Amino acid sequence: MIIGVLRETHPGEQRVALVPSVCLQLTNKGHSIHIEQGAGLAAGFADAAYEQAGAVVTTKQSVLAAVNVLAHVAVPSPEEIAEYPPGMSVISYVYPRRNPHVVQALANARVNGYALDAVPRITRAQSMDVLSSQNNLAGYKAVIVGANALGRVFPLMMTAAGTVTPAKVLIYGAGVAGLQAIATAKRLGARVEVSDIRPETKEQVESLGAKFITVDGLHDVTVEGGYVAAVRPEVLERQKAAVERVLAEADLVITTALVAGGTAPVLISVDQVALMKRGSVIVDMATDAGGNCALSVADATVEHNGVTIIGSSNLASTVPTHASELYAKNMAAFIAATASETTISTDVADEIVSATLVTLNGEVRL
Ligand code: NAD
Repeated sequence: MIIGVLRETHPGEQRVALVPSVCLQLTNKGHSIHIEQGAGLAAGFADAAYEQAGAVVTTKQSVLAAVNVLAHVAVPSPEEIAEYPPGMSVISYVYPRRNPHVVQALANARVNGYALDAVPRITRAQSMDVLSSQNNLAGYKAVIVGANALGRVFPLMMTAAGTVTPAKVLIYGAGVAGLQAIATAKRLGARVEVSDIRPETKEQVESLGAKFITVDGLHDVTVEGGYVAAVRPEVLERQKAAVERVLAEADLVITTALVAGGTAPVLISVDQVALMKRGSVIVDMATDAGGNCALSVADATVEHNGVTIIGSSNLASTVPTHASELYAKNMAAFIAATASETTISTDVADEIVSATLVTLNGEVRL
């Protein structure tokens, strides 16, 4: 297969879809890699490293003219898609439920699109799971970003000048990002409390040394494929009441709550921000899906009554070296599992192909 990589153009995107070590693995398996000049620079990978790995470093036009399959990171824009040749396949983040216009653009361009974000959460596909690899890094970085914006430190410090008490951190959502945020905040010495509405997260949260905030009625939450699918409004109201005391005392709040590909639940209202301490910080990691705080703005920092609200839609991209290394491994695992002779399989009898193939021969599938 001839696999292409372009320089990412989405604002703020610093990752690259394949790194040199993974290019070497792919070329050793008989694939050819064509990569746009400078595509890996923002992530710390020079053109020479790709050439040493056997890749052809060339212009964007030459990449698009040569390849069968494009490996991509950010959701491609309709303008990018318009440049793709018909018959090509692209493997990328797509978030088809949130981006029907992107899916339609892929269909119009007769490009077969594969959404890596839709890889099913089955054992065979774990090595391809970009949501896990990238959200894990993002959860770590959310704590670092939040700590940096606070006017206080995380750990207990007993000094001759007096004692500094540990920071209080509240985390909404104990999925991949939330669990890493808990572990990172604990390592820095904070006291951590957590709210999630999947009952099984209690044990996971406690195993990391954090406190789980209990809400009655969680048995009413519907979970499908590991994702929260439906929550009754009364449960969210009960949750809001249960968390309010902790929110009012928190120094740092990190929100990671998502529901199955759709709009994120608003868990912190404007009234609740007004209850928070001056100098406290919210890092909202769900702004891509609308945000968990009513006041957060994607990729911007706003202040409300002395509370700093940081909207972070793409924290993984702020650690682009590690993020690209892991993304590229996910990509290579996907290619290994789905490659046919010259392109990616379109056999929808395969569970992984069926779950990820959003457009096929000009038709929208997902
Ligand atoms: P996610 O990104 O969809 O959501 C993040 C968290 O937000 C989840 O824990 C969810 O329960 C929580 N949430 C939703 N509504 C909430 C609310 N109102 N208040 C508080 N929290 C709320 O989830 P994720 O990180 O992708 O993980 C989802 C599940 O999938 C987890 O059980 C995870 O361990 C599992 N998983 C499985 C695999 C695999 O088997 N291959 C891989 C990765 C993750």
